[in-house]
Amino acid sequence: MNFQLGTLVELSIYEGGSKNILTEAFALISSLENKLSRNKEQSEISGININAGISPIEVSDDTYFIINKSIYYSELSKGFFDITVGPLVSLWGIGTAEAKVPPLKEINNLVKLIDYQKIKLTPLNNLVFLEEKGMEIDLGAIAKGFIADKVCELFKEDGVKGAIINLGGDVRLLGRKPDGKLFRIGIQDPFEKRGVAVGVYEGENISIVTSGVYERYYEENGVRYHHIFNPKTGYPADNDIMGISVITEKAIDGDAISTSFFLLGSKEALALAEKLKDTEVIIITKDKRIILSNGINANFTLANNDFILEKN
Ligand code: ADP
Ligand code: MG
Repeated sequence: MNFQLGTLVELSIYEGGSKNILTEAFALISSLENKLSRNKEQSEISGININAGISPIEVSDDTYFIINKSIYYSELSKGFFDITVGPLVSLWGIGTAEAKVPPLKEINNLVKLIDYQKIKLTPLNNLVFLEEKGMEIDLGAIAKGFIADKVCELFKEDGVKGAIINLGGDVRLLGRKPDGKLFRIGIQDPFEKRGVAVGVYEGENISIVTSGVYERYYEENGVRYHHIFNPKTGYPADNDIMGISVITEKAIDGDAISTSFFLLGSKEALALAEKLKDTEVIIITKDKRIILSNGINANFTLANNDFILEKN
């Protein structure tokens, strides 16, 4: 267990792997964080942000891949998922000591800057350019998923047979438990503090990523402001969803999809999940319903009868 990526990182190996593999994995996480975090001055993302409106920057394959994927998810979510939310994330400061509800005028000024279509990519030499000065990329909604996948690859190459990689709620499963049983993953109760589950999902070789408002939020005059922003209004997303878990093969997809779906609301999220290949969702609504997409079946078991289970 380690505190990295601004969250709790838990790596559990059940079978296989060499002696130093955990140390190697934690080092890999640190090096990826140094490359991808916009809070690190030397990161590639900071390089792109500082040069917004000035010049394109050449980045590594990892950074290029994540930004390219992000744009795909922006298009899929009709612009709700947008990694250029950086200036808004800073303005609100949710999760920091400086959190506040900013003046509407300031919010409106920054909303104009948020536009994934102004990220220009040149694939030939991995160039990234933000067209307007002041634009800033923030990979908070997708980087942890990418890193979980990278750790999974490292484990596989090292001969690990069974593992749970948990980067603060972005979970990737490698194989099964040594006794041949499926892994059991608790699904966060979004009305409770971290670690309290509404039910259990059983699976193998999949990722399960959760977005919710239970953790990072700021309260003022009885209103709870959280950290997933609607790029069109500049305010935290506000619809019928309280929490959502997304099951996909790769965690990078689950991470981007869970944030996107959180912004879309339950109806559109469920409709889109049914269309996407190998994508299942567990949606928890504010009125305490748990909506399952139709591929989930027996994998999910409810553990709290305050919730009503709806299968599709
Ligand atoms: P968590 O990081 O808590 O697991 P998410 O994966 O949903 O949750 O990511 C939330 C983070 O994504 C925010 O802290 C912020 O950095 C960034 N973000 C906020 N709003 C958006 C958005 N509309 N599109 C893309 N990224 C966003
Ligand atoms: Mg996400």
